[in-house]
Amino acid sequence: MRMLVAGGAGFLGSHLCDRLLAEGHQVIAVDNLITGSLENISHLKDHTDFFFMEQDVTKPFKIEGKIDFIFDLASPASPIDFVKIPMEILLVGSYGVHNLLELAKEKQAGFLLTSTSEVYGDPLVHPQSEDYWGNVNPIGPRSVYDESKRYAEALTMAYHRFRGIDTRIVRIFNTYGPRMRLDDGRVVPTLIDQALNNRPLTVFGDGSQTRSFCYASDLIEGIYLTMKSSEHQPINLGNPHEMSILEFAEAIKKYTGTKSTIEHQPLPADDPKVRRPDISRARKILNWEPVIGFEVGIKKTIDWFEAKK
Ligand code: UDP
Repeated sequence: MRMLVAGGAGFLGSHLCDRLLAEGHQVIAVDNLITGSLENISHLKDHTDFFFMEQDVTKPFKIEGKIDFIFDLASPASPIDFVKIPMEILLVGSYGVHNLLELAKEKQAGFLLTSTSEVYGDPLVHPQSEDYWGNVNPIGPRSVYDESKRYAEALTMAYHRFRGIDTRIVRIFNTYGPRMRLDDGRVVPTLIDQALNNRPLTVFGDGSQTRSFCYASDLIEGIYLTMKSSEHQPINLGNPHEMSILEFAEAIKKYTGTKSTIEHQPLPADDPKVRRPDISRARKILNWEPVIGFEVGIKKTIDWFEAKK
């Protein structure tokens, strides 16, 4: 099949391109490189089935020839981006998704939206299952991302219901692995970088807030299986193994052997206190669950960052 991956030069987008090519598909990666990078796809530049197009999907664009399936992974997703490039996030979640859904309509292609656990906001239900509507501050600093993704889900469902598009929605929980940006601001690359340079590990608040970290290859497998399914309702993809951020920082200390200490800094506004996916639907519909444990995944990630130093 001929696939389009919007955000194909990003962290997860580039891993998805690799996976699709390995399955024998043709891939057109579209990216404006605002947070993605050519380095993530440099190993693919001579691949005969891989094409890269530098393009902002919020602007009109054309693709020649057929497209069978569109994956929309185009969005900045780190909390530091929410204050650095808020307009771009709102536009890519609205105009960008709209343009890609119109392209799906024109090409009679399938469409998969990568949504986020942020649609649950600071959740009052724990763990989060897909039928929970969330607790989102619509005007807070995170709202540019949360609300654009909630809008993107609504738009995707409307194109499914009223335009007959064959859509999928996955809600991605915290994911980590090689190709995360070093200056991404998120806890995984930030603390690994600090540890490898023996700088203090910055833990926001008292570190009691929890996250559940999924290794990239597991997540990509979940996305691939969702494409192959015929499920139109949202599916949570993530690893239910939950830990506090303080535990995460201790693990980074242990696996890097760093001399770094832990330095507490103020907790950002609306930082979710807990987050853990209920993946019962993914288990049932996709027969999917993560297979890479935290220790294995984080050691691979540390090795990758160390090799880049
Ligand atoms: N965090 C932290 N130190 C950092 C970066 C993040 O303690 O240097 C915390 C952050 O406050 C949040 C958690 O780690 O509670 C995960 O943050 P991240 O930015 O990775 O993503 P989020 O899950 O909030 O979208």
